[in-house]
Amino acid sequence: MSDCNVILKPKKEESLLRFHPWIFSGAIHAVEGNPQEGDVVEVYAADRRFLATGHYQIGSIAIRILSFSQTPIDDAFWAGRLRAAYTLRRAVGLAGGESGNTYRLVHGEGDNLPGLVIDIYAETAVMQAHSVGMHHARHQIAAALKTVLGEALQHIYYKSEATLPYKADTGKEDGYLLGGAGDEDMAMENGLRFYVDWQKGQKTGFFVDQRENRSLLERYARNRSVLNMFCYTGGFSFYAMRGGATVVHSVDSSAKAILMTKKNVELNFPGDPRHEAFAEDAFKYLEKAGNRYDLMILDPPAFAKHKNVLRNALQGYRKLNAAALSRIGRGGLLFTFSCSQVVSKEQFRLAVFSAAAQTGRQVSILHQLTQPADHPVNIYHPEGEYLKGLVLYVE
Ligand code: SAH
Repeated sequence: MSDCNVILKPKKEESLLRFHPWIFSGAIHAVEGNPQEGDVVEVYAADRRFLATGHYQIGSIAIRILSFSQTPIDDAFWAGRLRAAYTLRRAVGLAGGESGNTYRLVHGEGDNLPGLVIDIYAETAVMQAHSVGMHHARHQIAAALKTVLGEALQHIYYKSEATLPYKADTGKEDGYLLGGAGDEDMAMENGLRFYVDWQKGQKTGFFVDQRENRSLLERYARNRSVLNMFCYTGGFSFYAMRGGATVVHSVDSSAKAILMTKKNVELNFPGDPRHEAFAEDAFKYLEKAGNRYDLMILDPPAFAKHKNVLRNALQGYRKLNAAALSRIGRGGLLFTFSCSQVVSKEQFRLAVFSAAAQTGRQVSILHQLTQPADHPVNIYHPEGEYLKGLVLYVE
């Protein structure tokens, strides 16, 4: 046994034996050694059988599992996990590829590193801790990351102020753990370039998870007039332009996002008159949009971050999709998404179904979309599947 041990109640080890990486506080019988939030603890069954090692935390999820064997959480552990994550990205052609240098290297539970996210933009890694355990380990993780990526990695920016549960305890820690580029850099995805501002931007600076859905959009954009709603830094817009859209209008309520979108479109298509961008609220914009668009993208922020606001979130998706479906031109396409983890695929589809029924239009589902290979879902942790999308054809 280690310094800090957690003993589960009888029969509460079952989900762990199926490799689920969370232990809820209600499953705990006793805690030995007074662990503090973020400490590494060992977990034992009621009969004192060893089960797992994990990060202790205060809240309904009490432990996030790092390993199901009795290994020390040391430099070799971090390097091993990061190497496995890197090997997966190489196996699917995302790391070290010619046409792109943007990918998610670590996707929390999907890479057996609960509470940790690392996105790669060219020579910079942006690292985000969602647990105090990962926060405490950040320097060790940074060193292991450099070991695994070698010369390909020059900067590590740590950005966790908005994602850590106990901000007060950890203080203001955002900043470089390695190197120190300016506050933005250029990266590439499928041959298209864009600026990323990891310091001031949302999340790690770019929505890496929409890569393949943007590619699909590019295939359908030819001769269409496109409305990219909730455009953020313009990802879908520059793909639509390369795909041969006649018009691309980007809308986001954030003026900063609109500036970035304009800059990114200019970077790829200098002086192209097909693009315009508007800093406006989605609903207000849709109200006066008429039926001039025959391809629309709806990629709103998560409407529900917690289960208790689920009903409102589903209403929100229904209203938004109804507003778009009622206005889209005949023979139009709608790419509609939800990134709320607490909204299931079925619930989202039901919300879009209700929206379609409300408009009375004939609607078919052409594609059901999800997150790409660098956002893997741990098969023992289905909660990791969060991005849902539908491509609809509207007669
Ligand atoms: N599609 C984007 C990511 C969208 S993130 C991409 O591919 O990168 C969600 C965006 O919605 C954010 O940029 C946020 O500023 C914007 N947003 C939030 N509420 C909004 C509203 N009511 N109207 C318009 N945009 C909104």
